Amino acid sequence: MMGPSHALSGAAVWLAGSWALDYAGVVEQSPLAVAVGTAVCAGGALLPDLDLSGKVTANKGGATVARTFGVVSLFVAEVVEKVSLGVYHATKLSKDPNRKNGHRTLTHTIPFTVLVGWGTTALCTKYGKWAVIPILFFMMGLALRGLFHQWAQRAGWVIVTLASAAAAYYAFLNLPADRGYPMLGLAVGVGCFVHLIGDMLTSAGAPILWPIPIGRQMWRMIGLPDAIALKAGGKVEVIVLRAVFTLIALAAGTALLGRAVLRTLNVVS
Ligand SMILES: [Zn+2]
Repeated sequence: MMGPSHALSGAAVWLAGSWALDYAGVVEQSPLAVAVGTAVCAGGALLPDLDLSGKVTANKGGATVARTFGVVSLFVAEVVEKVSLGVYHATKLSKDPNRKNGHRTLTHTIPFTVLVGWGTTALCTKYGKWAVIPILFFMMGLALRGLFHQWAQRAGWVIVTLASAAAAYYAFLNLPADRGYPMLGLAVGVGCFVHLIGDMLTSAGAPILWPIPIGRQMWRMIGLPDAIALKAGGKVEVIVLRAVFTLIALAAGTALLGRAVLRTLNVVS
């Protein structure tokens, strides 16, 4: 799947999950907390593709996510790709093919998903606002890039960077500090996981079982068979799937907002 579809799927899953938890009376979140979680989850759903580097010196290419902060994020993508390739070579078994590029390896595994989710929460707990603000800033940037990709492309990375900074600071000032941190890590982790599911719908798949060896393969790509696989960037993805994600997001978002309003009017508790 392409960047914008990944971001939309992350937003839809977070909103639908928040609605379900709210409806079941398990977790009630303020509209701002839901909005921040949705943005962070949408951004998290782009994070694994930070291993798709472009040309740093020419400021070209790379995944949606790699272009978020211009040359800076392109450079980060370059590093992530090389580190992933290093881990691939260090852990590959005889049946794993030789690779020249680290895309769809380390950042597309369950351990990576768990590590970034846990790491986000750990950093926020240890360093407080000095971690929360930069993490929000980074994730908001990714979310803007993915959810509003046409606008982001026209506006350019400077505007995207400024908008993310403003959104991150606003969110930080207004979020209740005590409950924000585990939620942030969870949103990042869920986003990454949703990305893996998205890639598994394509025939290229994702090495989701790493580091469990199967046969003589550590990096087996798990994806749908060619006949029914989603074509990345094809009509089904761009038109059908994005419409479905948008509808789910809008329906869950409206329902959540409705419940928040009813709650302030004391109609539901
Ligand atoms: Zn991917």
